Amino acid sequence: MPSVPRLEISHIAKSFGGRSVVDDVSLSILPGQVTCLLGPSGCGKSTTLRMIAGIEGPDAGTIRVDGRVICDDGHATPPEKRPIGLMFQDFALFPHLSVARNVAFGMKGSKTAQRAAVVDLLAKVGMGRHIDRYPHELSGGEQQRVALARALAPRPRVMLMDEPFSGLDDRLRDEIRDQTLDVLKAEGTAVLLVTHEPGEAMRMADEIALMRDGRIVQRGAPYNIYNTPVDRQAAAFFSDIN
Ligand code: ADP
Ligand code: MG
Repeated sequence: MPSVPRLEISHIAKSFGGRSVVDDVSLSILPGQVTCLLGPSGCGKSTTLRMIAGIEGPDAGTIRVDGRVICDDGHATPPEKRPIGLMFQDFALFPHLSVARNVAFGMKGSKTAQRAAVVDLLAKVGMGRHIDRYPHELSGGEQQRVALARALAPRPRVMLMDEPFSGLDDRLRDEIRDQTLDVLKAEGTAVLLVTHEPGEAMRMADEIALMRDGRIVQRGAPYNIYNTPVDRQAAAFFSDIN
């Protein structure tokens, strides 16, 4: 059993203009595990993700990947140097670049090596046949798979996903999110997935971290959180699951 979490955040906090938005949040995720950060709109989920990505600097706290500090009081690894991938709802591909060039964007090494890596990544997400297409020739779900291949290209240790499936219709969404998680789990990536939908968290998470007003109010396996909510508010939040 791996004992060092792939991602560990300890006591991170953030205020904007004197208002606390993220308050003493701690989480850890093992390789190949999915934690869903679940809570209503405005509770601080995206801000938490942005701090882990390095887009926003925390006021306090420590962030580690594989035990190595990437952010604490005196130090912040720049976002592009963090072994962290990002997928957001607005996962725009470059419209003027082919699928292959979208995935290869930012890759180093010879053209031949890049092409081999792109072929491999697209095969992983089931998009091998579409390598020379352009984004406008693809459906929303297909574009999302290309975005996943692109996010996987630098072999991130951690994948941060901010409601990445919200733009897709229901049937497609189930298929894409299951496939996405299969790929990430096979790579041993730790996934932190933000959602405001309890049903999505129940379906996808190994662990749910329930967030409210900037704080984690409950953490646990989906089944436990659903059956033993910490308070009435948590119970109500789960009651309109679909
Ligand atoms: P969530 O993703 O859970 O919907 P956010 O993390 O986006 O919540 O936002 C939490 C709160 O912090 C909101 O009230 C939002 O308006 C505020 N906020 C987020 N970013 C900023 C910012 N850069 N400046 C000021 N307030 C912000
Ligand atoms: Mg958000």
